[in-house]
Amino acid sequence: MQITKHKVVKIHYTLTDDDGEVIDSSEGGEPLAYLHGVGGIIPGLEEVLEGKSAGDQFKVSVQPEDAYGDHSEELLHEVERSHFEDIDELELGMQFQVDADDGPMMVTVVEITDDTVTVDGNHELAGIPLNFDVTVGDIRDATQEEIDHGHAHGESGHEH
Ligand code: ZN
Repeated sequence: MQITKHKVVKIHYTLTDDDGEVIDSSEGGEPLAYLHGVGGIIPGLEEVLEGKSAGDQFKVSVQPEDAYGDHSEELLHEVERSHFEDIDELELGMQFQVDADDGPMMVTVVEITDDTVTVDGNHELAGIPLNFDVTVGDIRDATQEEIDHGHAHGESGHEH
């Protein structure tokens, strides 16, 4: 079976940056299960997976425009520290979900002063070329329910 639209695909992957540092890996754990062809994974990786079969191995370098986009200064926001007074210990790197114009967005605290807090709405992997080492695992047809939901269910998929 080949990977085409609406297959549920399991992949084992190791993701490294250009210095060879491992950013993320499924090694030693469960593979990632995703629904192919609906934009559930980054475009640069989904494109390469199209047509692959179980057992195929490949490496691909994905540029930011085909991954999480460039790092945008416009997504840096300085807000008054009083907005965070409910947080006991505000620290750099803390993440919060906030309501943005086009829905919920994760932001990361990148600077704290006495009066202000700067949060960054960029994805933590924005602006970074991503190097994937991928092994394709099981491939199966998606159920109608999975297609309706737009994601894979069950083992290593969406639990709900
Ligand atoms: Zn679902």
